[in-house]
Amino acid sequence: MRIVKGYAGKVLRINMTTRQVLIEELRTQDVKLFLGGRGLGAKYLFDELKPGIDPLSEDNKLYFLTGPLTATGAISSSRWMVVTKSPLSGTFIRATGGGAFGQELKRTGFDLVIIEGKASRPTTIFIHNDTVKFIDASALWGKGIDTATLQDRIIRELGDDKIQVACIGPAGENGTLYAAIMNLRRSASRGGVGTVMGSKNIKALAVRGTCAVNLVDKEKLNDITRDVIDAATRHSLYNGFSHFGSSGITALMHEMGMHPVKNFQSGYMNNFAGLTTDNIEQIFVKDVTCARCFIHCGSILKVRDTANNKNEVEGPEYETMWSFGANINNTDLNFIVAANMLCDDYGIDTISAGVTLSFAMELYERGILSKGDLDGIELTWGNHEAARQILKKIVKREGIGDVLALGTKRAAEKIGRSANNFAMHVKGLEIPAYEPRGAKAHGLNIATSTIGASHMTGYAMQELFGIPEPVDRYSVQGKGALTKQNQDKTATYDSLIICGFPACFGWISPEIYAQLLVAATGIEEFGDVQYLITAGERIYNLERLFNIREGFQSKDDYLPERFLKEPVPDGANKGQVFEMELLLRDYYTARGWDIQTGVPKREKLEELGLQSIAKELKVW
Ligand code: SF4
Repeated sequence: MRIVKGYAGKVLRINMTTRQVLIEELRTQDVKLFLGGRGLGAKYLFDELKPGIDPLSEDNKLYFLTGPLTATGAISSSRWMVVTKSPLSGTFIRATGGGAFGQELKRTGFDLVIIEGKASRPTTIFIHNDTVKFIDASALWGKGIDTATLQDRIIRELGDDKIQVACIGPAGENGTLYAAIMNLRRSASRGGVGTVMGSKNIKALAVRGTCAVNLVDKEKLNDITRDVIDAATRHSLYNGFSHFGSSGITALMHEMGMHPVKNFQSGYMNNFAGLTTDNIEQIFVKDVTCARCFIHCGSILKVRDTANNKNEVEGPEYETMWSFGANINNTDLNFIVAANMLCDDYGIDTISAGVTLSFAMELYERGILSKGDLDGIELTWGNHEAARQILKKIVKREGIGDVLALGTKRAAEKIGRSANNFAMHVKGLEIPAYEPRGAKAHGLNIATSTIGASHMTGYAMQELFGIPEPVDRYSVQGKGALTKQNQDKTATYDSLIICGFPACFGWISPEIYAQLLVAATGIEEFGDVQYLITAGERIYNLERLFNIREGFQSKDDYLPERFLKEPVPDGANKGQVFEMELLLRDYYTARGWDIQTGVPKREKLEELGLQSIAKELKVW
């Protein structure tokens, strides 16, 4: 039976080499086992990608996905997802973006758009319902056009202001390995998804849809949504989060010692005072939101940026408050806001960009890189002007920027001279804004995530915010099982493509999502929360198998030596190290994976219905 409710029911396959366009049916079995979004992306990537391909060759594929709740009116569900093989880590990668692109994409009548091959010249793809046009984008390529201007220009030229555009900026054109894909000022940013798009000569994907999404019980879905909004807006954390977004947690994370300083060398900043919510309030202009979200966690802030002649821009999230703040020993909020703007303009991941900068700063501090190596730039801690110059070089791939554009892992290999000791990455993806030594499940997730160092694949709210129940963040007890639980649940949510924030705060429970799914799709199994969480576990294991097929092993589940051997020198986590071996054993046991190799055991894969894949891989 064809899936027609909740889902659009169709897949669009576009080959950029031949310009062939195919419309395929969404397979019911795939939907039931992998839900949508991240899960469906993992399934297609595993099935369709030849092992060992170069992520920047035309053999790689780019999957743009929506979920069963996208464009249904359900809470915070307008996000979109990109899945591909990462050029930065070589692993499976999923990156999710906000804005309004997901909603418009689903309305074109497709749950999934697959982009294959490589265009012979820069191209904008325009999908208008089931019509696909290829538009020459040569005039937009290589001109240094920022991503906001670019989106406006494409919309103007296509003559319909309801069009949404997902595009790359100069970083994606130039092959910076951590380029993002932007919609409005929101990005699908991690792992170089924008680099893959650039490697295919695709400047932008523009979408316009007028197809209604059919629902089984729209009234019920609307009733549930109303009740959730009513309860969430009365929650004690709602007002603060809605006003400041994730940047509002910066001071709390610093107080908890979770806000690393100077490339994870320290856990405390003496002059932190400039980065509190009071400072943000002074430059606050107004809230902004993704389509149909009642939380409106984004904000427009004032900025002084004479170089770019801007006065107001969308403000940074917590990760960018950190990556261009404490991470590079900077307390100037205006510079963080300006750097966030530059990264959005260039189309580059703020986490990887900031951590690559702090890596270079530490190398300069230690004399591993000289001023000459840095093209004459004095890259000292907190030096804004120097950071800005290096960032520009990274995007243009000029001088030292050509090396740093490769990310910390590859840059360290090129630089040599023990530089790899200071490269803060896991599987090639730069570590985000949390001190792994200060929250063991949070750190364990970063060490084991299928995409490399990501906080968003298994955020330990229990350790950091006591939600739903507080857990001792320093204890190693039970952290394997807790990490598994957080990762599987996130894989489920990422597959429905719902925003992580309301789920993290507990404003929407898994039971509510199950009810919304049944109201949208009518698929009875989706009403069972355990069924959905098992689907998340299946998806997680499939991603793991993809990585194993690419050659990743147990030794790749690690944190850099700094976290294992150097106790945190100061701040609330003083004296803590990360108990890697102990925690990893506990995690593999909880996952049902071999304790030595980290390969999923036969009975686990049989339980999840993945045994045929495992046989094919000969992993046992
Ligand atoms: S909570 Fe924030 S990021 Fe999530 S959908 Fe709403 S506005 Fe977008």
